[in-house]
Amino acid sequence: MSFTLAIVGRPNVGKSTLFNRLVGKRLALVDDQPGVTRDLREGEARLGDMNFTVIDTAGLEEATDESLEGRMRRLTERAVDMADVCLFLLDGRAGVTPDDQLFAEILRKRSAHVILGVNKAEGAAGAAGVIDAYSLGLGDPIPLSAEHGEGMADLAAVLMPIS
Ligand code: GDP
Ligand code: MG
Repeated sequence: MSFTLAIVGRPNVGKSTLFNRLVGKRLALVDDQPGVTRDLREGEARLGDMNFTVIDTAGLEEATDESLEGRMRRLTERAVDMADVCLFLLDGRAGVTPDDQLFAEILRKRSAHVILGVNKAEGAAGAAGVIDAYSLGLGDPIPLSAEHGEGMADLAAVLMPIS
C-alpha cells in the first residue's frame, strides 16, 4: 500500500531540497501551473524499496497580502489533510525558532502523524539543533542532510511501517 508524505516547515529549512532529492525527475505537478497547485508540489518519491507520494509546501516564500503566519497555517493544514504522515523539517543550524513552535502547534491541533526531521545536520554544526529539537515534544528527531543525502536510511526506517 502506498502513502502520502507532506514535507512541512518554515521557509528555508530545506523542504524543496529534500523534495527534489526524493522525487528526482518524477514530478507530477510542476511549478509553472497556475494558482493553487503552485503552493503544493506533488511528486512520486522513491526511497530505499519504497514508492510514495510526497508533497512540498512550496509557496510560503512568495510575497502576497496574506501574512506569513496566515499562509503557513493555510498551506500546512491543507498539506496535512492530504497526507498520511508529515515530515516536519527544522534547520539544525538555526535551532528551534518561534515559527517552528507555531508549526508544532498547528500540527498538534490537526492531530497530524508527525515525523520530526532536523535538516542541515551534516558536520558538527547541526548537532545542537538535533538536541534542541527534543524540546518540541514530537518524538525523536532524525538528523538529515537533504543537500548531502545523509540520514536517508533513517528516514526510510521510520516510514517503513507506514508503507
Ligand atoms: P525551503 O524554503 O524549505 O524549501 O528550503 P530550500 O530547499 O529552498 O533550501 C533553503 C536553503 O538551504 C538553500 O540554500 C539550500 O541549498 C540550503 N539547504 C538545503 N538542505 C541543506 C542541507 O542539508 N545542508 C545545508 N547546509 N544546506 C541546505
Ligand atoms: Mg521551498
